[in-house]
Amino acid sequence: MPPTLPPNLSAAQFDRALADWRAIVGDAQVLTSDASLAAYLDPFAPGEPGAFAAGAALLPASVDEIRALLRVANQYRIPLWTVSTGRNFAYGGAAPRLAGSVVLDLQRLNRILAVDETLAYALVEPGVSYFDLYAHLREHGYKLWVDPPAAGWGSVVGNTLERGFGYTDYGDHAAAQCGMEVVLANGDVLRTGMGGIEIGSAWQLYRPGYGPSFDAMFMQSNYGIVTKLGVWLMPAPPAYLLGEIQFQHEDDLATIVDRLRPLRLDGTISSHAVIEGGLRRAAGLSARRQWYDGAGAMPESAVAAMLEKLGVGRWNLHFALYGTPELIDARYALIERAFSTVPQARLSAARYTDDAEPRGGGDRNMAGIPTMSAFRMLDWRGGAGAHVDFAPICPASGRDAQRQYTMVKTRAAEYGFDYYGGFTAGARHLHHIFAAIFDRDDAQQVEQAGALLRSLMSDARAAGYGEYRAHLAYMDFAAAQYSFNDGALLRLAETIKDALDPNGVLAPGKQGIWPAAWRDRRGYT
Ligand code: ADP
Repeated sequence: MPPTLPPNLSAAQFDRALADWRAIVGDAQVLTSDASLAAYLDPFAPGEPGAFAAGAALLPASVDEIRALLRVANQYRIPLWTVSTGRNFAYGGAAPRLAGSVVLDLQRLNRILAVDETLAYALVEPGVSYFDLYAHLREHGYKLWVDPPAAGWGSVVGNTLERGFGYTDYGDHAAAQCGMEVVLANGDVLRTGMGGIEIGSAWQLYRPGYGPSFDAMFMQSNYGIVTKLGVWLMPAPPAYLLGEIQFQHEDDLATIVDRLRPLRLDGTISSHAVIEGGLRRAAGLSARRQWYDGAGAMPESAVAAMLEKLGVGRWNLHFALYGTPELIDARYALIERAFSTVPQARLSAARYTDDAEPRGGGDRNMAGIPTMSAFRMLDWRGGAGAHVDFAPICPASGRDAQRQYTMVKTRAAEYGFDYYGGFTAGARHLHHIFAAIFDRDDAQQVEQAGALLRSLMSDARAAGYGEYRAHLAYMDFAAAQYSFNDGALLRLAETIKDALDPNGVLAPGKQGIWPAAWRDRRGYT
């Protein structure tokens, strides 16, 4: 493959910039060979992976090195694309939005800078994964839990900045963040909130600080390079209960959502709760070809037979209760009361105390133990498994959930995809996550996955729904759905972008935000 140059730059200019960067971080930390850059290609690209190829990758080890690298980027106007561990799979991995951008890979900044057991927080650098933080807490005997995302190898910083979510009471990762250190495009370094007090001690305790609060501005944006991040941790509970309720009918979904909502709103269920579609649950236990080997979406009869055989519900509600046994029992009784009247619903619960641990991957996540169980889904369809996700926000109302489900399932079947999805419940909204699983060695499946995603986004737009996160290929499309007053929201985002980053060197195009220098690159691929 010919090297991908940064846009608007000659090979000679790029060579000079690379030499300057090598002088800062050393030869070994500037990657340019095809072999080393392969790691920065999107492993699950729903199209041609080269469309988002990086021009090079830089691996600094300190904030000072980052600032020096930035000076060179500004001088040559080369766009950088920051990743923490680059495992943002299904949304683009470590690949940049604008081909030829240089990936600023922060995996070598991997220190756990502080853990406070009393006040229940940690301060970490971008290269710290959920596995790392979990192991550190265990090793030192801290009675604190992490809230893992679906794949534990991702970084705490990367996942939090993308507003990822997990399973426990701390499942809303953006909400559990407190305090950041950020390098701006001009090299200035700031600490948000109480971090502004130089000898202060409340940086990880009170997010707002004094005056305007900026933490949220650095999430899903391209306004800065986050080099430290505070995260609240859950005190290890004395006991917990992991519950599952299986529902037998497809149209139980609306009832589940309407009965779950009051329990989430009043805190009876304080963990994120997941309403998992039967097929997704089954994919954790078996491979598709056991049940159906034909082309197109699995027929209803095969789905029904599979669920029956595996003893899995059409919908499966998973939740966790944490606290003292008395409180758990009282809360569980309320949940039983709410759901036991749904015809043929099957409730089950497992109780844990002290050091007892669940064994299944999903259950371990709810017990604050990171796993890689999410990767089992890649085997569902056979071949070189990959997926691209459609992730609209859904109001926590039965009517909306049923509407989104029908919309997505119908469209997916049209393109030959199974409904592999579910809803993760906040109190007032649901994250509806649908994954189009495909074999990346099968050109037709890859193309169909891309076409399906584009159709789903058009459907969502027509129905007034918007996505919470999108793959690189659809970032502009997703941003355009937020079109009130001729796109006033994006206008504001780009006004801020131009003020902070006049040379457009930080992640052009991320979340549809293009700096003036690259605005002509916007495109709904
Ligand atoms: P993970 O490996 O945890 O899944 P990534 O490192 O791939 O996460 O990060 C996901 C996305 O978040 C990146 O593509 C990038 O846009 C943004 N991002 C990650 N780390 C940083 C950071 N330290 N500063 C700014 N943006 C970041």
